[in-house]
Amino acid sequence: MKAAVVSATNPGKVEIIEKELPKLASGQALVDVEYCGVCHTDLHVAKGDFGPVPGIIPGHEGIGIVREIADDVTSLKVGDRVSIAWFYQGCGTCEYCLTGRETFCRNVKNAGFTVDGAMAEQCIVVADYAVKVPEGLDPAQASSITCAGVTCYKAIKVSDIKPGQWIAIYGCGGLGNLAIQYAKNVFNAKVIAVDINDDKLQLAKEVGADLVCNPLTDGDAGEWIQAQVGGAHAAVVTAVSKVAFNQAVNSVRAASKVVAVGLPPETMDLEIVKTVLDGIQIVGSLVGTRKDLEEAFQFGAEGKVVPIVQTRCLHEINDIFEEMEQGTIQGRMVLDMKKQEPKAVEARARVEEPVAK
Ligand code: NAD
Ligand code: ZN
Ligand code: ZN
Repeated sequence: MKAAVVSATNPGKVEIIEKELPKLASGQALVDVEYCGVCHTDLHVAKGDFGPVPGIIPGHEGIGIVREIADDVTSLKVGDRVSIAWFYQGCGTCEYCLTGRETFCRNVKNAGFTVDGAMAEQCIVVADYAVKVPEGLDPAQASSITCAGVTCYKAIKVSDIKPGQWIAIYGCGGLGNLAIQYAKNVFNAKVIAVDINDDKLQLAKEVGADLVCNPLTDGDAGEWIQAQVGGAHAAVVTAVSKVAFNQAVNSVRAASKVVAVGLPPETMDLEIVKTVLDGIQIVGSLVGTRKDLEEAFQFGAEGKVVPIVQTRCLHEINDIFEEMEQGTIQGRMVLDMKKQEPKAVEARARVEEPVAK
């Protein structure tokens, strides 16, 4: 099968190769991948930001159809539409797995990082960990919920925001635009969107942000939000920049939470006195559990959250990484595994033409 793999020689890039999948083991299912969204985490993985993983197939916003199941699988059947998510498998027995915090399992496997992911024509999943996609949810849109959507949904849960309160969303890219939609349409909060690109803020307004702030033109977002609404009741930071994390801490009211989601390989500054006197809580949030994903999908199926996606071909993945780096993507780029490389399509047309006549 055709697959993208992290390059061993070219940091931040992937190569398209032919790769064989192993035989199905007990508990596993083989999935024909339909779509895979391109998350900024895939770019971090390709760059080696979390440690080098040459040869691994990236991709953890995968959606596909079950083609085959191992003899002992009872939770999936052939033909089911399922997700391939970052949370690929937990140990099932540790304190985190047993207390609803399975994404923090110390023996976790992550699709597209520690095990092969979904940027391929096929992918093996652990049947009990593959979440089913509900009827009525478009599969290309579902791909974007498999990481971006569920991550934001979970982060807003963690933020403890209440209806009518102000939440600041830092970064309005692939994750952020969905964070705005979940915050508005599911949690009934009022949203301040912060980004350094005006086109992202335009999109933020279109998907429901009440206020938008560009720190490059409006000044420090923390001060701006304090002046506008007296501080946010919570902040969720998806921006890939420590500047945003620092501004987020200054943008919240006393006794509020700053939920850290973005993964810039940097450290954030933290004013100890302010943190103590204002009782600020800073908490990391990592994707979501299988239950969170089931809920996040359902809100998509009900039309409360509508991912903004554009489909591309697997061969365009390095171009997409470049566009991501330059900040020119609106919403999510989603690889459509049925789309052909333009050259391959042309070649086939040339071969097929005489036969057709
Ligand atoms: P993206 O590239 O689509 O979006 C990032 C956005 O941040 C862009 O719109 C960019 O303009 C904006 N930005 C950059 N600097 C900023 C600043 N100083 N202030 C405000 N906005 C700024 O990326 P994405 O796919 O949305 O992912 C975002 C981050 O979240 C990545 O680091 C990714 O690895 C991480 N992530 C974390 C989790 C998790 O479970 N915690 C899950 C998925 C992704
Ligand atoms: Zn992701
Ligand atoms: Zn565990």
